[in-house]
Amino acid sequence: MICLSGVKVSGCFEKTWFHKIIRPARRGLLAGLLAGSALSVAQAAEPDPFQIFAPLAYPQPVNLYHSGNGAPGPMAWKNRADYNIHVHVDPATHTLSGSETLTYTNNSPESLSTLWLQLDQNIYQQGSRGAYAAPQRLQDHTDGMIIEAVALSADGRETPLTPLVSDTRMQVPLPQALPGKGGHLTLKVSWHYTIPGEWGGRTGFSQNQDGEMYEIAQFYPRMAVYDDQRGWDTAPYLGQEFYLDYGDFDYSVTVPKGFLVAGSGALTNPDAVLSAQEKARLAQAATSETRIMIRTPEDVQAIVHQPQTETQTWQFHMANTRDIAFVASPTLLWDAARLNLPALEGSDSKNPAPRLAMSVYPAEAAGAGKWDRSTEYVKHAIEYFSGKWFPYPWPNAVNVGGHGAAMEYPGIVFDGKEDAGAELFWVTTHELGHGWFPMIVGSNERRNAFMDEGFNTFIDVYASDHFNHGEFAPKHDVEFAPQTGHPADDIVPVLKDQSAPVLMTPADLISEKYRHSVTYFKGAYGLQLLREQILGADRFDRAFQHYIALWAFRHPTPSDFFRVMESEAGEDLSWFWRGWYFKNWGPDYRLKSVSYVNGNPVQGARVQVENKGWLPLPVVLAITWMDGSSARLTIPTETWSQRNTVTLQIPGKLAIRSAVLDPDHMIPDLNRADNSFTVKLTAAHQFAPSAASTPTVQGASAP
Ligand SMILES: [Zn+2]
Repeated sequence: MICLSGVKVSGCFEKTWFHKIIRPARRGLLAGLLAGSALSVAQAAEPDPFQIFAPLAYPQPVNLYHSGNGAPGPMAWKNRADYNIHVHVDPATHTLSGSETLTYTNNSPESLSTLWLQLDQNIYQQGSRGAYAAPQRLQDHTDGMIIEAVALSADGRETPLTPLVSDTRMQVPLPQALPGKGGHLTLKVSWHYTIPGEWGGRTGFSQNQDGEMYEIAQFYPRMAVYDDQRGWDTAPYLGQEFYLDYGDFDYSVTVPKGFLVAGSGALTNPDAVLSAQEKARLAQAATSETRIMIRTPEDVQAIVHQPQTETQTWQFHMANTRDIAFVASPTLLWDAARLNLPALEGSDSKNPAPRLAMSVYPAEAAGAGKWDRSTEYVKHAIEYFSGKWFPYPWPNAVNVGGHGAAMEYPGIVFDGKEDAGAELFWVTTHELGHGWFPMIVGSNERRNAFMDEGFNTFIDVYASDHFNHGEFAPKHDVEFAPQTGHPADDIVPVLKDQSAPVLMTPADLISEKYRHSVTYFKGAYGLQLLREQILGADRFDRAFQHYIALWAFRHPTPSDFFRVMESEAGEDLSWFWRGWYFKNWGPDYRLKSVSYVNGNPVQGARVQVENKGWLPLPVVLAITWMDGSSARLTIPTETWSQRNTVTLQIPGKLAIRSAVLDPDHMIPDLNRADNSFTVKLTAAHQFAPSAASTPTVQGASAP
C-alpha cells in the first residue's frame, strides 16, 4: 500500500486519526521502549565496539523447519487452501452474496481440532476493533459479513457446523480433528454483506462520471495461516495488511450484463462474456508491444445508455496464489498489451498465452500522461521485476483506476483514477512490486511490515532508474527520499528522531507519522546500503535472488532473511542488522586531523578519522592534493572493531588541499559538519603547490 500526497486515500487518513487521537501517550511510551531509548542512550555515548559487534541472537530460532543458512529446513511444511468461489454483486442493493467450497490441506505435524477463517468485512461493523483502532470508522458502518451456513462436506454428505465469530475472525470447531501430514477436508460456506461506499478504503463502490464501479477485495471467508511460528495466526484485521496461505482459485462473478469484470488470474469463459470485437482486439493485444483498446469510450457510452436486466457470469482461474480480487463496472475502458514473458507451464484455457498487461479505468482518467500510459507502466514493472528478481508466476497483471485505494492484490492492483505523471508510474510500479513482496515471497505482512513495504520499495527504486532511460528517476515520492531525493540526507531526521519506531516493530504499532518514513523508506534504504555500500551489487543481488527463490510461495521470518543474506553473501552482518533493524543507529564520522611526517608532505601524510556513530558503515575518504590530483580509499567497518580513532598513512606527495569523508553522500552521516578539511588557497600555493601550509581541519571543533 502507498498513500500519495494529494490523493484521497481513506486508509491513510485513518491511521493519521489513530496517531493523533487515540493513543498519543501510549505511542510515546512504546516508541521509547522500542526505539527512542536505544537511540538516545547509545548515540549520545561514545560508540562501544563490544555492543556494536556483539553476536546477535535472532528472534526466530534455527530448527528442523528453518535452517541455519536461512533456507527452509529439512522438515519444512506449509498448509494449503484451495477455493472454488461464486459471488453475485447486486448494484440495486449494493450487496455481495457468495458461496465457497474450500479444500484445506493440513501439512503440519499436528492435528487440528478447529479451523480459523478471516472475515475482513467485519471491520466495518459498528464497534469493531478496527473501528476503535481507526476512529473515523466509527462514523460509517455495515453489518459486516453475515455467515449464512458453514458445513463440512464429505462423501456426498454435508454436516452443518456452528462457527464462533469473534470480530474479524471465525473459529470453526471440527467434529473430528483434521490429521496432520496431508490430512484434508472440504468446507462449504455461504455469506452475504453490504458493500461499503468509498469510505471502505481498500474495497467498496464509488461513483465514476458514467456510473458506479465496484472494487471488490477481502470478499470471501479466507483461511487464516497455521504456521511453525505460532500455530494459528489470528491477529485481528485492524486495517493493516494480510497473511495468507497459497492455493488454486476458481471463482466466478455474476453481475448485470454490460458490466466489465477484471480480476486476478485468467478469464476462462471469454466466449460467454466478451463480444466478437472484444475478442478480436484481445488477440491483437496479444501480439502488440503497445496498448490496444479492448473497450473504447464509444463502447462504454453504448453500454451505459442501454440498461440491462439480464446478468452475466465471468469465470476466472488463478493457480498458486494467496488471494484474489476483482473490479466490476459498466463504466470502464479496457486496454491491453503483450507481456514478454514465457508461457506458463501447462498453458491452456486456465493459463492462456501470451500473457497480458492490462488497465481498466473510467473515461475521465484517460489522457496523455494519465491512464493512457498505465499499461506501459504495468508491462515494464512485470517484465523488469521478472528479469531482475523472480519470474512473474501468473497469467496477467491488471491496473485499476479506481477511487484511490493504492492497494495490491495478486494479479490486480487498485490505484487512483486521478493519479497522473510520475505519481502514476510510481504507484503502479509499487503496487505491482507487491506481487513479489509479499505475494510471491509470502512473509507475514501483518507482523513484519519491513519485509513487505521495505523490500518492495527497494526494488521500486531500481525500477524507476530502469524505466525509459530514467524518465521518472530517481524515485522521489512520499515513500522514498521524500525531501531532496537523496536518501542519505533525507533519512538523517528519521535516525535522529528519538520517538521513531525501529524496523522490527510490529506493523500494528507503527503510527501513520512513521509508516512511510520508517517502514517504506528506512526499510528500502537499508537494502540499498547493504547492496551498494556493504556487499556490492553482485554479491547482494545473488544473495537476494537466492532468498526470493528459497522462500517463494512460503513464509519466511525476519531471521530467515538475515541468515540467507549472511550465509549466501558471505558476511557477518550482525552489526548492521542490530543498528539498522533492531535500533535506529546511524553512522557518524569525524575528520580529526591532518598532519605530515616530519612536517614534510613528501614524506607522507597522516589523516586521523574518528568514529562517533554506532553504525560503522564503510566510508570513503577522498584526498585532493594541491595540484588537483586526487585519490579515494574506503575505510572498512572492521576498522572500528577495537578502536574509535584511526590514523591513516597517506603516501608522500604534495601538500593536501582537501580531505573529505563520504564526499558523495552515500551513507547517512549524522553530522557532516566535521567530515572535511580544506586549505584556503593562497597565491603562494598556486605558484608553489608543494609548499606545506599548516592544515586546518574544518569542523574539527564544530559542535
Ligand atoms: Zn505498499
